[in-house]
Amino acid sequence: MVGATPEAIVVGAGVVGASVAFHLAERGMETLVLDREGPATGSTPRSGALVRAHYPTALEADLAWESLTNYFELWGERVGGGCGFTRTGFAYLAGEDGAEALRHNVFLGKSVGVETELVGPEELKGIDPSLDTDGVTLAAYEPRGGYADPTATAVGLLDAARSLGARFEKRRVTALRTRKEKVAGVETESGPLDGRSVILAAGAWSVPLAAGVGLELPVEPARVQVALFERPYSLPTHLTIIDSTLGFYARPAAERATLVGTRDHFSHLEDPDEWNPEPDRSFPEAAAGLLGKRIPALRRTPYCSGRAGILDMTPDGRPVLGPEGPEGLYLALGWSGTGFKKAPAVGAELARWICEGNPRRAELKAYELKRFRTGDLVFGEYEPSVRTPH
Ligand SMILES: Cc1cc2nc3c(=O)[nH]c(=O)nc-3n(C[C@H](O)[C@H](O)[C@H](O)COP(=O)(O)OP(=O)(O)OC[C@H]3O[C@@H](n4cnc5c(N)ncnc54)[C@H](O)[C@@H]3O)c2cc1C
Repeated sequence: MVGATPEAIVVGAGVVGASVAFHLAERGMETLVLDREGPATGSTPRSGALVRAHYPTALEADLAWESLTNYFELWGERVGGGCGFTRTGFAYLAGEDGAEALRHNVFLGKSVGVETELVGPEELKGIDPSLDTDGVTLAAYEPRGGYADPTATAVGLLDAARSLGARFEKRRVTALRTRKEKVAGVETESGPLDGRSVILAAGAWSVPLAAGVGLELPVEPARVQVALFERPYSLPTHLTIIDSTLGFYARPAAERATLVGTRDHFSHLEDPDEWNPEPDRSFPEAAAGLLGKRIPALRRTPYCSGRAGILDMTPDGRPVLGPEGPEGLYLALGWSGTGFKKAPAVGAELARWICEGNPRRAELKAYELKRFRTGDLVFGEYEPSVRTPH
C-alpha cells in the first residue's frame, strides 16, 4: 500500500496515466494517481479507440502491435477483467496517390512483426463484401485489428494498479513542486502532496503545469468529433477502416451501431477547457455521407448520437515522453490523436524508464521534449497528408 510519501505521483487518470500506474505498481513502486474529474474523464472516454498497427514509423507500429498482442487480445490474463476488445479485422484504404506510401508502411509494419498484408480492391471486397471499393487502389489489411472500449480499458488498468497497491484520489493538481532542482511532489487544490517522481499525463491540460517549472510544451489543444449510426440487423458487422481516400474512419460499436470520425472536422482551440462537447450540427450529415459511400448498406441509416473530444497535438504528431526539467519529472503527453491503442506498451516503457533509467526501446528517446529545441522532429518517410485521430 502507498504510504504517506508515494514514490510516484501520476497526474491524469486517462488511459496513459492508468497504464503507467499499472506498470509502476507491477514493479512494486508506491504510486498515487490524481485526476481532477475521476478516472477516464478526459479524451479517453471520447476516443474512437481503434486498435491497429498501420503507421508511418516502425516504432509506432511496434508499440501498437505489442499493445494489441500482449494486452488487448490477452486482457483477462494480463490486466484482468475486460477491455471490450473486439476483433473485426482492420483495413487502411488508399487511392492511387497513397499506394506507394501504403506499400512502404506495410513493409515497415512487417519488419517489426505486424501481421499485415497488401490487398487489392477485389480481395478487399472478398474480405468484407459490405464495402464499396470505388476509388481504392490498395489496402493494408490487418486481420487481428479492431477496437476496444476506451473507458473499460482505462478503468481496468487503474483497477489493476489499485489491486497491486496503487491509490487513486480525485484531486486537481495546481502546480508541480520542486526542491533543489528535484521534483518534490505536487500542489493540489486541497493541499500539497509529497512524491519522489511525478509523471505528467494530463494531455493538453499539462501545458500550464509544465510551464510552472519552466518547461514550454509545444502542445496545442484541438477538437475532433465522432458520430454513432444505427447498423441494421442485415449487417451484423464490418471491417474497422481508415479510408484515406474519402477522409474518414469507421468501426462497429456495441449494440448494432457504427462509429464514424472524419478528417475535416478538426479545429484548433485556445483553451482545452473551452469547447463544446456536443458535435456540430452539420457533423452527423457529413459523417453519414462518407459512411454511406463506402458502406452502402449504411446509407441513410439513422443517426444515434455523437460527441466531441480534445486532442493534444504536437508539431510532428508524436508524443512527448521521458524525463525532462527537474529530476524526477517525466512527461507522457502530446498523443496527437493516436494514444489509445499504444498506451499499454507505452506505460510499460515509461515504468521501465522511471525505475531503470532507460526504456527497453532506445528509439523512444527520440520522443523526448528536447527534439523541439534541437529541431529533430520525428517524421516517417511517408506521412499521411492530414493526420486524423484514430
Ligand atoms: C474523438 C477522438 C477519437 C480518437 N480516436 C482514437 C483512436 O481511434 N485510436 C487511438 O489510438 N487514439 C484515438 N484518440 C486519441 C486517444 O483517445 C488519446 O490519445 C488518449 O485517450 C489520451 O489519453 P491520455 O491519458 O493521455 O489523456 P486523457 O484521457 O485526456 O487524460 C488526461 C486526464 O488528466 C486529467 N487532468 C487534467 N488536468 C488535470 C489537473 N490539473 N489535475 C489532475 N488531473 C488533470 C483529466 O481530467 C484527464 O482525465 C482519439 C481521441 C478523440 C478525442
